[in-house]
Amino acid sequence: MNTFIVTCPSCSGKNRIPADRQHLSPTCGKCWASFDLRGNAQPIELTDHEFQKFLSQATLPVMVDFYSPTCGPCKGLAPLIHRLNREYLGRVHIATLNTSLHPGSAEHYQIRGVPTLLFFLNGQVVDQVVGAPPEPQLRQKLEQLAGNRR
Ligand SMILES: [Zn+2]
Repeated sequence: MNTFIVTCPSCSGKNRIPADRQHLSPTCGKCWASFDLRGNAQPIELTDHEFQKFLSQATLPVMVDFYSPTCGPCKGLAPLIHRLNREYLGRVHIATLNTSLHPGSAEHYQIRGVPTLLFFLNGQVVDQVVGAPPEPQLRQKLEQLAGNRR
């Protein structure tokens, strides 16, 4: 699981935020000020090892971008994934999985090409997109997923 550093606007203290907790309105560890993470938020980078545990513990719908670092369309899609993660923070967990480093989860879900996006509700796949979708299509699917909260 990736973490990222946020500088507190009140005390300038550096805070290390785990990506899977970024939606929980974290507060500064030094002065307890709350801060808005939307400017810093990053998709959750999952590994094969963490994947099922993360899914089973997720309290939000989950979208996972299965990508490979050597795939051109994956690179093209990445900025949109980052942008949508900031926008959907608190509504949908947006995660990525590097299939070159972690082929097990891709195999488990029978993913044949990258990028493939899987949409999960309560740990079950409810929707998918194979290939990089145009932004309006992806937004529509995220809205649908976010509207289906348990
Ligand atoms: Zn602070």
